[in-house]
Amino acid sequence: MQAVVKDEPGSGAVFENWPQPKPGLHEVLVRVEATSICGTDMQIYDWRDWVRDRVKPPFVMGHEFAGKVVEVGPEVSDLRVGDIVSGETHIFCGKCFQCRTGNAHICERMKLRGVDTDGCFANYHRLNEQTAWLNDRKIPIEVASAQEPLGNAVHAASSAEISGKRVAVFGCGPIGACLIGLCKSFGATSIFGVDIVDYRLKLAADMGATTLLNAGEVKVVDEIKRLTDGHGVDVFFEMSGAEPSFQQGFEVLRPGGTAVLFGLPSKRIEFDVENWIVFKDARVRGVFGRRLFETWYETAEVLKTGKVDLSRVITHRFNLDEFSKAFALMKSGRCGKIVMYPNRKHSA
Ligand SMILES: [Zn+2]
Ligand SMILES: [Zn+2]
Repeated sequence: MQAVVKDEPGSGAVFENWPQPKPGLHEVLVRVEATSICGTDMQIYDWRDWVRDRVKPPFVMGHEFAGKVVEVGPEVSDLRVGDIVSGETHIFCGKCFQCRTGNAHICERMKLRGVDTDGCFANYHRLNEQTAWLNDRKIPIEVASAQEPLGNAVHAASSAEISGKRVAVFGCGPIGACLIGLCKSFGATSIFGVDIVDYRLKLAADMGATTLLNAGEVKVVDEIKRLTDGHGVDVFFEMSGAEPSFQQGFEVLRPGGTAVLFGLPSKRIEFDVENWIVFKDARVRGVFGRRLFETWYETAEVLKTGKVDLSRVITHRFNLDEFSKAFALMKSGRCGKIVMYPNRKHSA
C-alpha cells in the first residue's frame, strides 16, 4: 500500500510504499476512506520540539479517519466486515490506575495513534477493537473522519458552564470553530471569536460567533472589556497555543471565571500566576483528547441532532498523494478542516 511516512528526523514527510498491516487477535483492518489533518500532524510534519523528543521515524502519520472494516482478527467480538469505523487517538492500556478510574484518556501508558504507532495516512490502517468507534452509516464519511477533533471541542465545552454566559474563544481553527458552534447551541449569550486570520474569523462567524476580533488589527482586551461593560468574560477558551492569546484571554477573564486551556504553545511561555489565577480566584481546566468514551457518545449525538454542522468546517479536499499541498495550505491558516482520500480520486 502507499502511505505518508515520516521517514527521518527533520521537517517534511514522504509518500512511499509501506507494508500493508495484518490485523492481530483483537484488531481489524480498515480501508481508509477519508482521513483529516490535525494540528498534531502539522507539528510532526514541522518537527516541533516535543516531536523531536518523542517520535521515532520511520512511521505512518495521521490519526483522524473513517473507513470500512475489510478484515477482522479472530478475537474481535463486536465489529464485522463492512462496518464503518473511526478510532480514538489515545490508545489506552485499560489496566492502569487512570484507566480503571474513568480517565483512560490520560492513561499512564498511553500511546498516540500516528505519533507512537503507525497512523492512518495510508490505504489501510490496523485498528484495535478497544479504540474503535462504530459510525452511524448516515454520517458522511469526511464528517465521520473529522468527529475526533469535534470531540476535542465537545470535551472543552463540557469543561465549563456555558449556558447564559459570555465566552471568548481564542483560536478559530477547526476545533475553535466547532467549539463556537457548541457554545451557541449550549446557550452562550455572547461569543467572542478571536484570531489573526480573517479566513478563520469567517469560519467563526459561520459557526455562530457574535463578535469577531482580529487580534492583529484591534486591541482585543479593550474591545472585549468595552463590550462586556468592563466585566470581561465568564469563560475563556484558549484553542490556539499562541502566547499573546494566553495573556489577552486571562486579562479578559472576569474574576471568578473559568479558563479552559487546549492549545499547545510552541515553547515555554510566561505565566502570571498571581494576576491571572490567584487574585482572580479563577478556575483553570486543561483539556486533553476526549473522555472515553463519554465524549464520543456526546459527539455522535451532536452530529445526529445537527447541533453543530461539522461539514461547514470542512473546507478543502485532496487526494492523499497531494499531502504536501494540503500541509502547505494548512500552514497558511486559510482553511478549515482538510480531508484527504487515500482510496479514491478526488478533485476539489
Ligand atoms: Zn486530531
Ligand atoms: Zn491505562
